[in-house]
Amino acid sequence: MTITWTIAQKQRLRELNVTPDLEEKVFSDIQERDKTFRSIEQLLVKQSKQHLMEMRNIHRRPALCKLERVLSDVLIKNEFVQVVTPIILAKGLLAKMSITKDHPLFKQVFWLDEDRCLRPMLAPNLYYLLRELVRLWEKPIRIFEIGPCFRKDSGGGCHLNEFTMLNLVELGLSEEKESKRLGELASIIMNAVGIKNYQLISNQCEVYGETIDVVSKIEVGSGVIGPHILDTQWGIVDPWAGIGFGLERLIMVKEGYQNIQRVGRALVYLNGVRLNI
Ligand code: ATP
Ligand code: MG
Repeated sequence: MTITWTIAQKQRLRELNVTPDLEEKVFSDIQERDKTFRSIEQLLVKQSKQHLMEMRNIHRRPALCKLERVLSDVLIKNEFVQVVTPIILAKGLLAKMSITKDHPLFKQVFWLDEDRCLRPMLAPNLYYLLRELVRLWEKPIRIFEIGPCFRKDSGGGCHLNEFTMLNLVELGLSEEKESKRLGELASIIMNAVGIKNYQLISNQCEVYGETIDVVSKIEVGSGVIGPHILDTQWGIVDPWAGIGFGLERLIMVKEGYQNIQRVGRALVYLNGVRLNI
C-alpha cells in the first residue's frame, strides 16, 4: 500500500509553498510520513521566516508593487503615457463592450447598485480616453493603465476576485504594422518581467471574438488587433493593438508559484509568505 499526505498535511505544505515533487511524495508507512511532514514543515517555516526578514530589511516592497513599477517604467520609456481612470464603472460603458445581461461576463461583475459596478476590465475606460485623444494628439497614440479589476471568477489556482490588470494600447499605425506590433509589445512586457518561455496563441474570447493570448503554461495576457467590431461604439476608426496582462499571473509564472492567492492582495500572506507560521 502507498501512503500519501493527509489532506490537512497537504494543505499546510501548499500554504508554505512546498515544491510540486514533495507534494506528490509517497510513503511506505504512516510513521515515516508523519516524521517527514514534521521535518519538511519545520524547514519551510524556517525559510518563510527568512523571507519575511528579507522583506523587512531588504525588499520592503511586495512583488506586485515592484512589478507595477518596472512595467510602468518600461512602457514610459517606450513612449506610452500612463493613465489612471475610475475603478467604479457605469453600466452603460460596460454595455458598450457588449457586456449586457445575456453575456457570460455579466454574471461575473460586482454590482454596487443598479447602474454602477467595480470594473471587470480596463478596456472601456481606455476606449473612452482614446476617443478624446485622437482629436487632441497626433498619432500614434500610446496609453496604458495598471490597476485593480474585479470578477466573480470561480476559484482555481489562477483566478482572484480582485486582481491587477495592465492594459496597454497603441493606436494609429497601419493595420499591418499594428499586427506586428502586438508581438513586439508582448515581448517588451515579457522581457521586463523576465519570462523567457512564452507563446502567442490565437484564441476565442466572449468580448472580442478573436484574441491573441500570451501563454506561459497559463494565460498571462490577451491581445487584440483592431479595427474591431466594438470600435464603432466608441467612434474609433484607426487600426490599433492592445494587450491586457494580469500582474499576479505574471508573478506566479516568474516565481513558479502554484497558487495565485499568495501573490494578490492578502491578509494571510505578506509578499507571498504565509503569516501563520
Ligand atoms: P481566463 O480565461 O484565464 O479566466 P480571461 O481570458 O477571462 O482569463 P481576460 O479578459 O483576457 O481574461 O483578461 C486579461 C488578463 O487578465 C488575463 O490574461 C489574466 O492574466 C488576467 N485575469 C483575468 N481574470 C483574472 C482573474 N480572475 N484573476 C487573476 N487574473 C485574471
Ligand atoms: Mg483572455
